[in-house]
Amino acid sequence: MTERVLTGDRVTGKLHLGHYVGSLKNRVALQEQYDTYVLLADVQALTTHFDKPDLIRSHLREVALDYLAIGINPDRATIFVQSMIPEIAELTVLFSMFVTVNVLRHNPTVKSESKHSGLDDMYYGFLGYPVSQAADITFCKASIVPVGDDQLPHLELARKIVRRFNELYKPVLVEPRALISEMPRLVGTDGNAKMSKSLGNSIELDSTTEEIAYKIKRATTDPARIRKNDPGHPDVCPIYAYHRAFRSSEVSEIREGCEKGTISCAACKALITSALEQLIEPTRERRAYYAARPDVVDDILLSGTRRARGIARETMEEVREAMSLDYF
Ligand code: ATP
Ligand code: MG
Repeated sequence: MTERVLTGDRVTGKLHLGHYVGSLKNRVALQEQYDTYVLLADVQALTTHFDKPDLIRSHLREVALDYLAIGINPDRATIFVQSMIPEIAELTVLFSMFVTVNVLRHNPTVKSESKHSGLDDMYYGFLGYPVSQAADITFCKASIVPVGDDQLPHLELARKIVRRFNELYKPVLVEPRALISEMPRLVGTDGNAKMSKSLGNSIELDSTTEEIAYKIKRATTDPARIRKNDPGHPDVCPIYAYHRAFRSSEVSEIREGCEKGTISCAACKALITSALEQLIEPTRERRAYYAARPDVVDDILLSGTRRARGIARETMEEVREAMSLDYF
């Protein structure tokens, strides 16, 4: 059997360059070789946005358009809606029996995200979202999960859950592994370590030429470079990080020029602006095609979800049998 790939995104906002380098680029490549599943994580979006169901609703199709525009091919990959697979919720409940609260509390990604939320307590659903993610991965027996490095603790937990389940009951689940990209964490335009929807420091994949130019123009650079000829420190500059992520050639020249103060920040920004434009420009036509055909997009999501549901039912039957929950 071909190995299965699963990944997804919370539908809390449009996708950005961080998603692209962290995961989307790999997905587009992997779909050629593997049975690829892509999840629109609307339930997981609720863990932080339960009071904004309309936002999630509107972003569901927005993220689907991002996928299609960037090159996820609906003939090869299965794009589906998380909340329409109730077996994921069932599996989450069953897994939650043998995951302790302390393990979740000490998960570094959960910790840092909950710090950002500003709340001094955590919602039960939020604390448990890594368990629900383990269900997302295991319901379809995915073995490869292309993700950014913030997801590593979650993948580790998913692996533990699978091992525990298989040894407690019967070996029916598949242990997944993370596939971390060459650029596991893209910095934000404000210099924050992670470009993120929630931090407002992102460049969206549906940006216009003007938006790209504007955001790069406004982006933070090395604060030590005040005058053009001041020697710079590329490793603290988000623009240099973007050069590394999006330009295959001349990156060492940029480093040298920055360190010697022979290339100005403005010139450096102009180069990356045009590289980003080259990346995004070809996606605009595909985006426009699907944006003009909402019925086609709906069909893609419905048929993908149907396919995923079929697999979920099969796995759930095996799980019930393994756990002796198959009474009749
Ligand atoms: P939110 O702030 O709502 O959590 P997010 O920007 O973190 O949004 P997610 O939907 O949580 O996005 O993540 C989807 C996938 O994209 C994950 O695999 C994650 O690791 C990856 N990803 C997100 N942001 C980045 C980034 N800046 N660099 C690399 N990968 C990223
Ligand atoms: Mg996130």
